[in-house]
Amino acid sequence: MATILVPVVAARRSLLIPSLHGGSLRIELFEFAFRRVKLHLMFHAYFDYLIWISPALLLAFWAQMRVKSAFAGAAQVPVRMTGAQAAQQMLSEAGIQNVGIEQVGGKLSDHYDPRHKVLRLSNQVYSGRSAAAVGIACHEAGHAIQDARHYVPLVVRNAAVPAAGFGSSASLILLVIGSIMQFPALILLGIALFACVVFFQIVNLPVEFNASSRAKTELMAMGICGQQEMVHVNKVLNAAALTYVAATLQAVLTLLFYISRFSNQR
Ligand SMILES: [Zn+2]
Repeated sequence: MATILVPVVAARRSLLIPSLHGGSLRIELFEFAFRRVKLHLMFHAYFDYLIWISPALLLAFWAQMRVKSAFAGAAQVPVRMTGAQAAQQMLSEAGIQNVGIEQVGGKLSDHYDPRHKVLRLSNQVYSGRSAAAVGIACHEAGHAIQDARHYVPLVVRNAAVPAAGFGSSASLILLVIGSIMQFPALILLGIALFACVVFFQIVNLPVEFNASSRAKTELMAMGICGQQEMVHVNKVLNAAALTYVAATLQAVLTLLFYISRFSNQR
């Protein structure tokens, strides 16, 4: 048997040498094509991603349109004081003395700064005497009251800010490097970091809903808005809430996209 096998193997070997050479060339060509396919897939993945999150994008677009139209409508509904005055009254009635109210540039740039204990209201909201102005101003005052009362979802949200900020910038870098290097640990870390963003967005929802419900209750209780004005306040605050729902949906869908895409590569 051995005597027969030796020449066969030898013959095969001599035949294999040129075919092997051709084979490695073929492998190189294949790898080159594969890399191009991979590059193509990355662009392709981006379009897949856009389609995947399109429900959230459509909802965000719709919510933005509603915020604009609700604000424009409510800005035409007069009330007896400015946004700044309404916020000040709401804070005073809650027994909060250490929160300042400042005017800030930009449109719908209103926010509460928990670090400096300042309500920053955009010009239109600060000095506007409309249902839109007092609605938004009192929503921000609602955040200041949450802060003063150590409202648990706000405490949790603020604690999650650094991780979410780092996660949103670092996760994609880790996912791309991890998938190019075929390094599952990096991919898992990238997904875990993006999960921090999702967590932040989810815990942000009760914070926003609660600030709006505080504003609605107080505007009625303080007699700044009646039933008719409240219709417009509700429209503005509900549309604003919808933008947060859209942002949360986008984060959740992005996380699911990452999990489905990058777990396949392991
Ligand atoms: Zn808010």
